[in-house]
Amino acid sequence: MAASHLVSQAFLPLRNRHVSISSRSRTVLPIKIRATLASEPATVTASKHCFSKKEDGYLYCEGVRVEDAMQGAERTPFYLYSKDQITRNYEAYRAALEGLKSIVGYAIKANNNYKVLEHLQSLGSGAVLVSGNELRLAVRARFDPTRCIFNGNGKVLEDLVLAAQYGTFVNIDSEFDLENIVMAARIAGKQVKVLLRINPDVDPQVHPYVATGTKTSKFGIRNEKLQWFLDAIKTYPNDIKLVGAHCHLGSTITKVDIFRDAAVLMVKYIDEIRAQGFGVEYLNIGGGLGIDYHHAGAILPTPMDLINTVRELVQSRDLTLIIEPGRSLIANTCCLVNKVTGVKTNGTKNFIVVDGSMAELIRPSLYDAYQHIELVSPPPSDAGVVTYDVVGPVCESADFLGKDRDLPTPTKGSGLVVHDAGAYCMSMASTYNLKMRPPEYWVDNGSVVKIRHGETFEDFMKFFEGL
Ligand SMILES: *Cc1c(COP(=O)(O)O)cnc(C)c1O
Repeated sequence: MAASHLVSQAFLPLRNRHVSISSRSRTVLPIKIRATLASEPATVTASKHCFSKKEDGYLYCEGVRVEDAMQGAERTPFYLYSKDQITRNYEAYRAALEGLKSIVGYAIKANNNYKVLEHLQSLGSGAVLVSGNELRLAVRARFDPTRCIFNGNGKVLEDLVLAAQYGTFVNIDSEFDLENIVMAARIAGKQVKVLLRINPDVDPQVHPYVATGTKTSKFGIRNEKLQWFLDAIKTYPNDIKLVGAHCHLGSTITKVDIFRDAAVLMVKYIDEIRAQGFGVEYLNIGGGLGIDYHHAGAILPTPMDLINTVRELVQSRDLTLIIEPGRSLIANTCCLVNKVTGVKTNGTKNFIVVDGSMAELIRPSLYDAYQHIELVSPPPSDAGVVTYDVVGPVCESADFLGKDRDLPTPTKGSGLVVHDAGAYCMSMASTYNLKMRPPEYWVDNGSVVKIRHGETFEDFMKFFEGL
């Protein structure tokens, strides 16, 4: 398949190959549209944000009161997205990539909602996969598998065979991974396009759990081993074709110099690889751009800032740039909407207990991550502001959504949101304590539309049927 085919799609105008999304049968809640933000073009600036508190003291999502969405929802907690925000985030990348040959590979692991995937695909996105099932899902959502990239340090043969059959790019992560890719190519009877995942040893200055490109990381090949890999690849000309180099530094990165430092190193490797006769055409700089979780007025780098730091390097070598954003495309498009079960104190600490928990949203428990929390409706006029831990009902002391938050004392049954819950929240949700995975909705054209059913007790019992 010609590289020009891969490249061209990123430049097509907004495609609507699957406009049927909006005409399919769907659940529309009886919600009055209070504002007409939805009538604005979807390609407005990336800085406009979908969730905002208005003068009336209520939190809105694209003109819909979150409290109204709560009234109509199947149950709480639930995830609430803005479809337009997803579009705006994608458009910000597209605008940044203007004039470059490029592929945007959305990292499906950040959020695998099928409707979200269909939407990103319709905007022209490719996909980044870390399992065979993610590849199956991408294909179901009509992503072009030849514009998808299969990543991972422990890819299994069966999944690699699937990737080979679909013509997906595969990143080589280790010696054994190379062996497996060659075997998969033989089983599938297809030559696989591979990129070398090089570990550039650049410190991304993030939580150690989300740093992936340093010397001690379990991902990628050591750069000293580059020649060994090139020699090995040369021995399998029928099975694999080296087309690029890949790195992924980590996640929640808030300084774009880090990407620039890595790209400088990667281009040097590409020069070395080309000097040995390989027709390498792709530089994949991975994902990892952070977002403003703190909502404290910090100015964070945009997709444009990120691409600008590598633009000239990429052009100087006539490369096609692959980027793999997950969080920066989807995190800020969504809130977890919870209902307050009650407020309590243990003498030294005060707690707001909500119905959401680490089962639905584990990032605070797992990484001690901060996600901004606010109430969805004005508190009673006599409510004082108190320092609270916001916790769920799960039987773990690690079950918290936020610590030491100054919030007005909410009434029982009122709404409380955890912001920036679009990435690594629902996709990491579990059913611990038999809290079944929550339903998901998005605001689309001023209406609240269900985009995933809540899981039920009956769903759970199905795993035991006939046993
Ligand atoms: C997780 C992952 C991404 C996405 O990272 P974000 O921080 O969500 O942008 C991209 N590439 C690879 C290889 C990944 O593992």
